[in-house]
Amino acid sequence: MKLVMLGAPGAGKGTQAKRIAAKYQIPHISTGDIFRANIKAGTELGMKAKSYMDQGQLVPDEVTIGMLLDRISQDDCAGGYVLDGFPRTIPQAESLTKALASRGEKLDYAVNVDVPDENIVTRMSGRRACLGCGATYHIVYNAPKKEGICDVCGEKLVLRDDDKPETVQKRLAVYHDQTQPLIDYYKQEGILAEVDGTQDMDKVFQDIVKILG
Ligand code: ADP
Ligand code: ADP
Ligand code: ZN
Repeated sequence: MKLVMLGAPGAGKGTQAKRIAAKYQIPHISTGDIFRANIKAGTELGMKAKSYMDQGQLVPDEVTIGMLLDRISQDDCAGGYVLDGFPRTIPQAESLTKALASRGEKLDYAVNVDVPDENIVTRMSGRRACLGCGATYHIVYNAPKKEGICDVCGEKLVLRDDDKPETVQKRLAVYHDQTQPLIDYYKQEGILAEVDGTQDMDKVFQDIVKILG
């Protein structure tokens, strides 16, 4: 099964993508996680991405598309994958469609996790991230067992720089401008599935599983 997750920053794409990956035994591929891992490791790719990310801007398509197409050509992706945070622009979506078509493949679903802007700022200010293993928590809705420490790997949790309210507003504007048009793109492709992302995490996941089967 090949899926992409759509939705505003903070809508719950990552939370749901991890559950989907576990249930359907496919890799969870988050472009944001790949960029953050590169920043942490101090690679050239990380350096390129960081200035854009800190400002709430998208990393340019020239950097992002090649990186993602490389990733999905690796062996562990042969049986499918769930993409989280890609595509974020129409050119990214078109490149993915084309790359898949050249191998006689296509996406099965684009799952849109729908959450209005009003709910997003609270979600983001409460989000805590583990830069060690990519796990995410929320101080109210999904708290770690020990405050400030990752349940999975024991590293310290952080408030991401780009989750501060000023940057969140910027990211929402970028989302409406560049990413939201993908909802229509995938509707036209006939693979759009929509879920109400304001429900609790378990209910959102149940709704997704009903669609994916
Ligand atoms: P969130 O899960 O909150 O939406 P991500 O971790 O997906 O955030 O992305 C964080 C940042 O990484 C984005 O604001 C953007 O700067 C960059 N990024 C991630 N994926 C992409 C992409 N597909 N295209 C361009 N930039 C991206
Ligand atoms: P995205 O990947 O779309 O940016 P995340 O999955 O990281 O979003 O979720 C953003 C924040 O909101 C995290 O702190 C997460 O724990 C929390 N969250 C995710 N889904 C829900 C939900 N259904 N209800 C309440 N909080 C949620
Ligand atoms: Zn961790």
